[in-house]
Amino acid sequence: MTSPARSGANIRRLSPEVDHSEDLAIDVRRGLSASPKRLSSKYFYDARGSALFEEITQLPEYYLTRAETEILNSYADEMILAIEPEEFVELGAGHSVKTRLLIEALGRAGSGTRYVPFDISESALVEAAEHLGDSFPWLQIESLLGDFANDLTKITRTGRRLVKFLGSTIGNFRSEERIAFYSTVARMLEDGDGLLLGVDLVKDEDTLVAAYDDLAGVTAEFNKNILQVINRELKADFDIEAFDFIARWDAECECVSMSLKATREMDVTIEGLDMVVHLDEGE
Ligand code: SAH
Repeated sequence: MTSPARSGANIRRLSPEVDHSEDLAIDVRRGLSASPKRLSSKYFYDARGSALFEEITQLPEYYLTRAETEILNSYADEMILAIEPEEFVELGAGHSVKTRLLIEALGRAGSGTRYVPFDISESALVEAAEHLGDSFPWLQIESLLGDFANDLTKITRTGRRLVKFLGSTIGNFRSEERIAFYSTVARMLEDGDGLLLGVDLVKDEDTLVAAYDDLAGVTAEFNKNILQVINRELKADFDIEAFDFIARWDAECECVSMSLKATREMDVTIEGLDMVVHLDEGE
């Protein structure tokens, strides 16, 4: 099912907006009834969250973007020549900043001209399409607004594909979600297609944690923004100031886990769910 998104002439919404609101309601009810309480990172990315993520990519501690940029600067041409893609699909494209390096290589190779950014953030897709359209008038941009969980199979195929998934975004998934994601991506690929996957490597704990707990507090803001999203979308009354942000290295899953800790006992009313959530101090 497709329906046009609110803004941006070339953005296609792959599921109706009501489904997204319904997913949020179901996930928040389930997540805040669980122990420990949990919220999916996919709800970080409203317009403010997406803008905060772009700020994170510029932070001195956040080495991931710089490392991937360096790799693309060195190897983008080689990657494009190895696949000669007719279309270039980017999952969780965000503002498509690093993508420019591959698009330039695409232009130099004279191969495909179709770029399909797929993301859950409408604002990121709108801004990316505007900037890329200005820089690369020859590029056909087909922006898709969707959720990895439901919409990947709805991406239309027009020819040999390069699928790109960078930023260590795979780390946003729990293990069962990760398996489902990889299985779906495998079904999106045919012989001769390529998958460009960007995953961080385990390194010393201080470097890893600092990347997600920057001195300027931008990642903390980014995480707390999920409570603003719930306040707005589900008419809740989270007192954002009453939470501390904590980033920790989890040696078992080999990932950085990010949490919000209640600094006092509180009851939070979520009108949209007809629900009151109790949090203990330190929870
Ligand atoms: N690829 C970019 C952005 C990474 S941040 C980079 O490497 O810098 C992760 C991106 O995935 C964000 O743009 C976010 O909006 C998107 N995203 C997160 N969860 C998603 C989901 N469930 N479905 C689709 N996109 C999602």
